[in-house]
Amino acid sequence: MSATEYPICQPPTVHYVPAAAMKVLLASPRGFCAGVNMAIECLDLALRLYGPPVYVYHEIVHNKHVVDEFLAKGAVFVNSIDEVPVGSHLLYSAHGISPTVRAESAARELHAIDATCPLVTKVHLEAIRYAERGYKILLIGHEGHDEVVGTMGEAPDAIVLVQTPEDIDALAFPPGTKLAYVTQTTLSVDDANRIISRLKARFPAIAAPPKEDICYATQNRQEAVNILSQEAELVLVLGSQNSSNSQRLAELARQAGRAAYLVDGPGDLDESWFDGVETVLVTAGASAPETVVQQVLDYLREHFAATVESRSIRDEEVYFPLPRELRRATAKA
Ligand code: SF4
Repeated sequence: MSATEYPICQPPTVHYVPAAAMKVLLASPRGFCAGVNMAIECLDLALRLYGPPVYVYHEIVHNKHVVDEFLAKGAVFVNSIDEVPVGSHLLYSAHGISPTVRAESAARELHAIDATCPLVTKVHLEAIRYAERGYKILLIGHEGHDEVVGTMGEAPDAIVLVQTPEDIDALAFPPGTKLAYVTQTTLSVDDANRIISRLKARFPAIAAPPKEDICYATQNRQEAVNILSQEAELVLVLGSQNSSNSQRLAELARQAGRAAYLVDGPGDLDESWFDGVETVLVTAGASAPETVVQQVLDYLREHFAATVESRSIRDEEVYFPLPRELRRATAKA
């Protein structure tokens, strides 16, 4: 029998289908906003000018990495003015404070440095103006958030907190009450609009702030997620759990039907999230540093051979100057 008559045992042909390389869309604008940049610059400068410890009322911004870095440099974060030794330097965080805190610090002869974001101050001033003109103010925001606590403190008898459209049904005011609304700066634009529409339907004469209160950074980051998440199956938002604007980004992606995770860094990632996922959108809340974004990109490159494509939906060129007290101290130094 010739060799050709015998069936030749060949190894089975295996078609290896290479796992599709993951594509990462890197959203822009993302990460630090002008208010966060200013607050961080303030604390850095205060530590250099006065030396540690510099006390900070609440977290300078709501981000674990930023807070940990400043703890290592000698910042001390406090929740009460009583914790600050008389005569020390005290910095107010980007979220702002109520006048009570200002008065307590003055009584303790603290050297206060106000790193409140000017866009938060704008909401405080609106609330003060409406209260002075006899309005009841409906503050749309989240109970207990530092910014809301600070704004409510400007006119505690005049401000009522509204958190959901349903809260509006329970509102009752004597006839002739003048009403106005203001909002927290970091809300979901869509959620705020739903509440505002219901407010206007129930109280057609309600006064609105001359310019909307949700800040440019919150709006731009949300717009980027809205547009870019359409091309992704999964969205990663860099930010801490207590960051309101970061939480809103993850919520928005979920509302668009995408799997979305809010993570502080690569240590929070779970490989199983990426099973079968080809396109991932990466973004960052306004208080999340770019270093953690880059660490997450490195993780995705290393584990999934990811290629990264930057996608910008608009330019952002906003800068806030340092507060007067630090500009003066720098000029003297
Ligand atoms: S998120 Fe908006 S309001 Fe908050 S610090 Fe940044 S710019 Fe200011």
